[in-house]
Amino acid sequence: MKTANGLLNQFNIKATNNIPYRCTKCKDTGLIPLDESLKRTTILLDLEADYTTGKYEEIRHLFVDCECQLKDRFESRMNRSGLNSAVKNKRFDDYKIRYSWQKDYRQRAVNFFKKPKQLFFMSGQSGSGKTLLCSALCNMLAMNGWEFRYKTWEELVRSLNNNYRELPKEEYKVIAEIPLLYLDDFLKTPGNNVKDLTKHEKKLARSLINDRYNNPNVITVISTELSQEQLNEVDESMFTRLFEMATKDFMLIGSESAKDRNIRYLIANGQW
Ligand SMILES: [Zn+2]
Repeated sequence: MKTANGLLNQFNIKATNNIPYRCTKCKDTGLIPLDESLKRTTILLDLEADYTTGKYEEIRHLFVDCECQLKDRFESRMNRSGLNSAVKNKRFDDYKIRYSWQKDYRQRAVNFFKKPKQLFFMSGQSGSGKTLLCSALCNMLAMNGWEFRYKTWEELVRSLNNNYRELPKEEYKVIAEIPLLYLDDFLKTPGNNVKDLTKHEKKLARSLINDRYNNPNVITVISTELSQEQLNEVDESMFTRLFEMATKDFMLIGSESAKDRNIRYLIANGQW
């Protein structure tokens, strides 16, 4: 059996103590002592800690997590989220403002971030920047520690159709219980006609909204192209519930026909 040094010699690799730290702030320990002067005592105390009595816990609070840890955790949270890479790094400032309604919408998203309610709901036609603003909001919340999943309605419906018109139990459990759920293109149908929604799709929507409504510790972000009238037509009591969850502050419903809300249309016409 070769020793580590033997192996290093065999491959002519020089052992060095100068391997750079990935994070110079915490020297890759992931922890920063709250007070530099405590550093020595803290380490000594830690070495002497009796892990069976929980004394370690008492000592742990003298450290805070290093930024590199927060960053790592945020990144793996974002990788798990399933959010499209095009909007993964978006922030509130990426939502460009040209009209007063956009300023209002962005401000509401910022307010929600500071003090979240159960639901942030944004309706508007395709091209109105819904996905960007909602993604920015979710990114910011995820950065603050919220475990996050992104799902499009289309994905859920595909799953539903592949599984005897029911969502697989594990998949349903995740979207019902995840602390932060972003549901994109809620109740979308190919022709944007709510009459095309199947009873299974409506049942899924009702049950999901119901479960998230009953858990005050989770946040839901929803974007949809449906108008208020269409949402009412699908299920009036579900719509009332959504309204209750978002409160009037975070129920953002644009008018159906306003051309100035379709940014892609304006860009195509050289008006943006
Ligand atoms: Zn660090």
